Amino acid sequence: MMVSGFICERYGNQARTESLIEANARLPLEEQLAVTDSRVIICPNGKETGDNYWNMDQMIEQLKNAIKIARRLFSNAIIHWVFDNSSCHGSLPHDAITDTKMNVGPGGKAPCMKDTVIPDDNPFGKGGQTQCLQFPSDLPPNHEHYNFRGLPKGMKILAAECGYDVSKLIGQCATCKLEHSWKPHLDLTPHEIYLADEADGNDSGEEDERPFSCCLRRLLENQGDIKNQTSLLQEIVEEAGYKCHFLPKFHPELNPIETAHRLLDEALAACPLITIRRFFRRSGRYLSVYQQGATGYLAEFAVRKYASHRSVTRHDLDEAEKAWKLKQLKDAKKKLFYRCFCSYMIISGVNRMFATYFTLYRRPEKLRPTSKFGRGGA
Ligand SMILES: [Zn+2]
Repeated sequence: MMVSGFICERYGNQARTESLIEANARLPLEEQLAVTDSRVIICPNGKETGDNYWNMDQMIEQLKNAIKIARRLFSNAIIHWVFDNSSCHGSLPHDAITDTKMNVGPGGKAPCMKDTVIPDDNPFGKGGQTQCLQFPSDLPPNHEHYNFRGLPKGMKILAAECGYDVSKLIGQCATCKLEHSWKPHLDLTPHEIYLADEADGNDSGEEDERPFSCCLRRLLENQGDIKNQTSLLQEIVEEAGYKCHFLPKFHPELNPIETAHRLLDEALAACPLITIRRFFRRSGRYLSVYQQGATGYLAEFAVRKYASHRSVTRHDLDEAEKAWKLKQLKDAKKKLFYRCFCSYMIISGVNRMFATYFTLYRRPEKLRPTSKFGRGGA
């Protein structure tokens, strides 16, 4: 189970109040908000009936709904949206300009990115010029990159367009490769995390020791338009006219919702031991039926049928299979009967309609006072 939500100091959980819900219902249909609560709870279980695993699309939809709700709760206010500094929250828009997804040369599988403007601090006086990251699709056949029309230009051409001498630069040097491959280790002590944070927050740290143009990647990642690329969350929040903030890494204590979510721990702790033992037995039953080769609906049926057992034996599984087949047969019969019954009702209904039509309107001279429809006779 996964819970994601927004809270605010005034209302707690960010949801429309009862009076707002009533006011919403009185609005014209096109102005009404469909979602009343910004909290989303999902239970993905890998089955068709379960929810999808949490992804960017769901997060964006949730944020957009939360913004609509917040606009009603705090009209005319500039709302500050604060997010944890997680990789998910930092995801870039699909057309964002990012050097990590660029190839050195033109073409390849690199994604298409939006046009940009060369930053004003460009040392070659090219600041303010629009730069397309793809070749135009209508390149003339005599163009040297005709075969790459409509495709990404690659880092080398982009850096050259900004005026840099790229003749001796490689895509990514060993130092930068090491820098980009660094990941925080989960087994750091709190003190080590603190030291890592200090290093992260310090601009005169390790990064500055690398020369500005050791490789193409380093050169491009320092360009203002790439360096200041905003995340998708920030883009949505700012488009709505609000402010977006990201908390420093590894500091959940700065986020009040993290403390609120601890209540979930308490709720989980309140689950009685006997219930937990039932869950163990249920998992044991699943394990035993899978070990015997049963899957899908039969496995589920056997696990439910022998709900009081610790495991399901071969004999039980055979019995369950028989019962399951019998149930399927009964269900099929029921379905067939229902279909036949519906067809009969429809056909007899149509017949009656025609009979009425002909009796009342087409051959009124033949109507008798004893007509079963009780209408007046001739
Ligand atoms: Zn480098």
